[in-house]
Amino acid sequence: MKKHNFSAGPCILPEEVLQKASEAVINFNNDNLSLIEISHRSKPFVDVIENARSLALELLGLQNKGYKALFLHGGASSQFLMTAYNLLNKKAAYLNTGTWSSKAIKEAKLFGELDEVASSIDKNFNYIPKNYKIPSDADYFHCTSNNTIYGTQMKSFPETTVPMICDMSSDIFSRQLDFSQFDLIYAGAQKNMGPAGTTLVIVKEDILGKVERVIPSMLNYQTHIEKDSMFNTPAVFPIYVSMLTLEWLKDLGGIDFIESVNKQKSALLYNEMDRNPLFKGLAEEDDRSHMNATFTLTNKDLKEKFDFMWQEANINGLHGHRSVGGYRASMYNALPLYSVQALVDVMQELERKA
Ligand SMILES: *Cc1c(COP(=O)(O)O)cnc(C)c1O
Repeated sequence: MKKHNFSAGPCILPEEVLQKASEAVINFNNDNLSLIEISHRSKPFVDVIENARSLALELLGLQNKGYKALFLHGGASSQFLMTAYNLLNKKAAYLNTGTWSSKAIKEAKLFGELDEVASSIDKNFNYIPKNYKIPSDADYFHCTSNNTIYGTQMKSFPETTVPMICDMSSDIFSRQLDFSQFDLIYAGAQKNMGPAGTTLVIVKEDILGKVERVIPSMLNYQTHIEKDSMFNTPAVFPIYVSMLTLEWLKDLGGIDFIESVNKQKSALLYNEMDRNPLFKGLAEEDDRSHMNATFTLTNKDLKEKFDFMWQEANINGLHGHRSVGGYRASMYNALPLYSVQALVDVMQELERKA
């Protein structure tokens, strides 16, 4: 039996996507060639990447609104520097909500002045700062919508006149937002979209071309826009699997549908966490993530027993990140409700046996 996979990333993908992907590795489109041994410039693959790009924009409601979807190399981590390289002239504003934001800040400092508008480091990033001011002379504002490690998530985004950039690596396609409030969105594929190896970038074209520095071709968004993500060989397999996942999501009913399932899953787990005296949540209640739930045991002596029980129950990937400790249940789009129920059952069994 397949394990209940709560891994934070790379993470669970839909079963039918894995099935189709494995078939394409052997024989793609019944052409007696593998997807990964054909030219990336051949029509079958160009159709794949075009489909993936247009599905991404369609699911986010961003078609015909001046946005381009790109599949780039280098992970979300490369976007930390690429966003600043392309957009930071003098000063940028950053909201610091955890490890990933801090890494983005570190890279951006190489390119200009940085205004950290607020930070939640005082409480080990267990909440999202509110009521901060974004300077109107900033080149852009950067935030992280979901803090994968700490289990917090931005429920609203600031009104600002400057372009807004968002790292949505761990919650893209999981909930409905007005995506047109963002000028650039990026996400490593391996959290909610596909295997590691490609990064989705959605960029509004009119924010580009405004910095004075020379940008190396590979790191210039305009290069990739002009070449339709084909400036060099794209990550054909991760892009194909991402396309399959986006098709899967569209067939299910898109973001509206998956958001309702995601809400059921997180409510089930958070309700148990709050009810069961053996557990407590680590993130502040109003800022809890629907994707990554962080929690801990109230009695550390039960750790061995609990760890044994969830592993016996066929559950994988529940250990918290080393900088937070405790447990983290990542409930990405492809995780079924019954997997969350399996975890809740173990939590209740621990209560009975403790
Ligand atoms: C995982 C993650 C990253 C890093 O992604 P890479 O593709 O490994 O570079 C960045 N931001 C967030 C929010 C993440 O969850």
